[in-house]
Amino acid sequence: MGKPTGFMEFGRELPKKKDPSVRIQDNKEFVLNEEFGDKINQQASRCMDCGVPFCHNGCPIGNIIPEFNDAVYRDSWEEAWNILSSTNNFPEFTGRVCPAPCETACVLGINQDPITICNIEKTIVERAYKEGYAKPKKPRSRSGKKVAIIGSGPAGLSAAEQLNSAGHDVTVFERDEKVGGLLRFGIPDFKLSTAVIDRKVELMAEAGVNFVTNAHIGVDVNAEQIRQDFDAVLLTGGSTVPRDLPIPGRELNGVYFAMQFLAQNNRRANGWDLKTDEIHAGGKDVVVIGGGDTGSDCVGTSNRHGATSVTQVEIMPTPPEDRPANQPWPHYPMILRTSTSHEEGCDRHWNILTKEFIGDENGNLKALRIADLVWKTPKPGERPVFEEVIGSERDIPCEMAFLAMGFLHPEPHGVLAQLDIKLDDRGNVATENFMTNQKGVFAAGDMRTGQSLVVRCINEGRECARAVDSFLMGETNLEAKADSLMLSA
Ligand SMILES: Cc1cc2nc3c(=O)[nH]c(=O)nc-3n(C[C@H](O)[C@H](O)[C@H](O)COP(=O)(O)OP(=O)(O)OC[C@H]3O[C@@H](n4cnc5c(N)ncnc54)[C@H](O)[C@@H]3O)c2cc1C
Ligand code: SF4
Repeated sequence: MGKPTGFMEFGRELPKKKDPSVRIQDNKEFVLNEEFGDKINQQASRCMDCGVPFCHNGCPIGNIIPEFNDAVYRDSWEEAWNILSSTNNFPEFTGRVCPAPCETACVLGINQDPITICNIEKTIVERAYKEGYAKPKKPRSRSGKKVAIIGSGPAGLSAAEQLNSAGHDVTVFERDEKVGGLLRFGIPDFKLSTAVIDRKVELMAEAGVNFVTNAHIGVDVNAEQIRQDFDAVLLTGGSTVPRDLPIPGRELNGVYFAMQFLAQNNRRANGWDLKTDEIHAGGKDVVVIGGGDTGSDCVGTSNRHGATSVTQVEIMPTPPEDRPANQPWPHYPMILRTSTSHEEGCDRHWNILTKEFIGDENGNLKALRIADLVWKTPKPGERPVFEEVIGSERDIPCEMAFLAMGFLHPEPHGVLAQLDIKLDDRGNVATENFMTNQKGVFAAGDMRTGQSLVVRCINEGRECARAVDSFLMGETNLEAKADSLMLSA
């Protein structure tokens, strides 16, 4: 622990962001990290190096947080990088988009503001690139075993880096024209720029990972052929079937799934082929249906298009501002969160029932019929139910609506059907120690768990890589998650 009094001397501080009115003019990242200077060392010095660092457990990949905080405080950046990169393949992604469950588990957070762990992580990785010690993870020797990874989101990429470093010949197949999964076609560029993804993918390619794009396995390429050509196959295709809203008027022009809008905007922001008819929110009254992070990304993107108004509606009640008693520290609490996209302008409403999309004579959306609702306290063992508030029905202007109500499960046809992969009750891929019902075929990430978080998928990829390595070699030397090492020590 570098500075025993750090947490008493310095308050929590984050780098400034560009003003909302400025940043919505483009799709660029807007956090001014490089202007933060040595304040980052002060922030790291707030870490108390607690006897039991709960942040470890809060972090799904078990990042060794107090140790890298201490190194940053001492200005020992390469040491900080070595600690961070020993558990996290992609701090450049998590340092930008992780909701930081580590921070809600930080011991200092019990009665003060927690350490700015996520931002410290981002600063470490950016320095590592700038100072040249973010390097390709090359293997010492090659095993002669071939692994196919189908899907290039964070789960597929982390497994690829791990398995390549263990010496296997890894080929990542991706149906899109570029790799990255939702990191690239989903999360907006203003949160995670495409250059940050490219920079890492280039290092991975230099380390020996093969990337094959425009390869839709199970559609363009037979999945059985892949299975025959490789010693192990890993399925990391994500959870891509969106939840629909089958209410009257769903077929009107102007009603889209959030991902149609967001993925297209990633293409637009980078000057790539849009692939589908243009969806542009400029000059439109936009309503985003769904109060989560995907909805928030639609808000930020609509504001960048110059929407006339942006409204976000959510069926669930307004979350509490403070931790509820049933979600005590160190749990990640379900509280009201205001994203950077919300800061840019948005009307938010909770307890809203969406009843009908209303169109004009040309079949174009012009309004959304909504009503207020109240949630009833459920009887023990029963699901919560709601009732519409009589007389609250009204129409709000809506020329474009985005459905952002989550994802159901992976696409069951194509690769999963061709390989006859067993699914669980929720439609996700069923596994035992990451192996599916087919010998040598593994699954990880959202395809296995349902829609989750980037950091959870990195963990999935790392843990699955251990299972694949053991399957191929009879044992594995790939790093285990830090907390499991601590428990077994
Ligand atoms: C709009 C949006 C915003 C989000 N924002 C955040 C955030 O800010 N922070 C956060 O932590 N999480 C966020 N998430 C969640 C996070 O992005 C996902 O949990 C994560 O990307 C899932 O990773 P994955 O590797 O399992 O799959 P994905 O990232 O979904 O990647 C799967 C890849 O597999 C490819 N593929 C599928 N089938 C095939 C096939 N048959 N052949 C070849 N390729 C195939 C797909 O094209 C895709 O590229 C967000 C999700 C969405 C939708
Ligand atoms: S990856 Fe996420 S949870 Fe883990 S230390 Fe970084 S910000 Fe925290």
